[in-house]
Amino acid sequence: MDTLRLETLAIHAARSPDAATGAVAQPIHLSTTFQRNPDGSYPHGWSYARADNPTRRELERAIAPLEGGQDCVSFGSGTAASLAVFATLEPGDHVLVGHDCYHGTLKQLANVVARWGVTHARVDMADLDAVRRALTPRTRLLWVESPSNPMLRLADLGALAEIAHENGARLAADNTFATPVLQRPLALGADYVMHSTTKYFGGHSDVTGGAVIVREAGPALDRVRLFQQEGGGVPAPFDCWLIRRSLATLPLRVRQQSANAHALAEALAAEPNVAQVYYPGLATHPNHALAARQMSAFGAMLSIRVRGGEPAALAVAARTRLFTRATSLGGVESLVEHRASVEGPDTPTPRDLLRLSVGLEHVDDLLADLRQALAVDP
Ligand code: PLP
Repeated sequence: MDTLRLETLAIHAARSPDAATGAVAQPIHLSTTFQRNPDGSYPHGWSYARADNPTRRELERAIAPLEGGQDCVSFGSGTAASLAVFATLEPGDHVLVGHDCYHGTLKQLANVVARWGVTHARVDMADLDAVRRALTPRTRLLWVESPSNPMLRLADLGALAEIAHENGARLAADNTFATPVLQRPLALGADYVMHSTTKYFGGHSDVTGGAVIVREAGPALDRVRLFQQEGGGVPAPFDCWLIRRSLATLPLRVRQQSANAHALAEALAAEPNVAQVYYPGLATHPNHALAARQMSAFGAMLSIRVRGGEPAALAVAARTRLFTRATSLGGVESLVEHRASVEGPDTPTPRDLLRLSVGLEHVDDLLADLRQALAVDP
């Protein structure tokens, strides 16, 4: 399996016709419990569904090779997955986190993880000297998003892995935006990759999930697995099945959505009512060279700043017809969101910013929709 390409793995990894029936589509195992042998042993290795179950295991075995990891541990949400990585830490440990990463991760660090005695500091992960200066003797984890949410900043994953390892820390990358189709953090030196599988992995805005992929077997993987089984935030079998089903089309979807976003970013940069476009594929993006080195394409997320401030941005979002006003990302349908409203009053996100999750519609239709929405007087 190791030599197979991503498109093939996305379909064939951990999949074979069902041994009991020959069914080509995998069955969904809903059973919460499994029969013991007369001697008390478990004939098939399964005992109780929270601990493990065949449908969840199949999903995990399908995801791990996509990221090039030793194993994958799945969760009921991306939020539970990030918590599992933070739960590998000890009281007194310290986390360095990108200053503009997903606001829910920052809230989790402040409101949940801090209570366990794990401290954190926010730093610009694009500034490697700032990262070095922010390290403390107890820094055990660097948490990075690249591209970041919602400013689409880039961080050098290979350099961050080196800094982490030289200082006895691990690097965790939230690869939700890029997916393994466009970027493989473990190959660049990261120790953990985390996904909100709610997004591109699920791909249809109809299932919530999360995953942690760990590079090597060992205590780090064991701790994430322990947190899954004993923390109990496991995904339901049907949700695992839905995500597994969607993996088969992940490479196709992400590449096309990314191509759509790239075309939109270039067109929007020329729109008079757009003050700025944040998209790593644009030559004007400050980290474009890094993005070109680290990613095979630039992703399906972009943000724009609308001339006329927050009222104009809200008016544009109110006028879109194909872009649905909704949070989240990664589905086949395009979404638009005024991020500052979602992130709350303390957000550093500019108030005139709209984040676009670009879907699989025809790009000309999407551009026409944005142009008519932007024609509103600010
Ligand atoms: N990481 C990123 C980059 C996200 O965008 C999100 C959700 O929006 C999460 C993590 C959290 O995932 P979930 O909503 O599945 O808990």
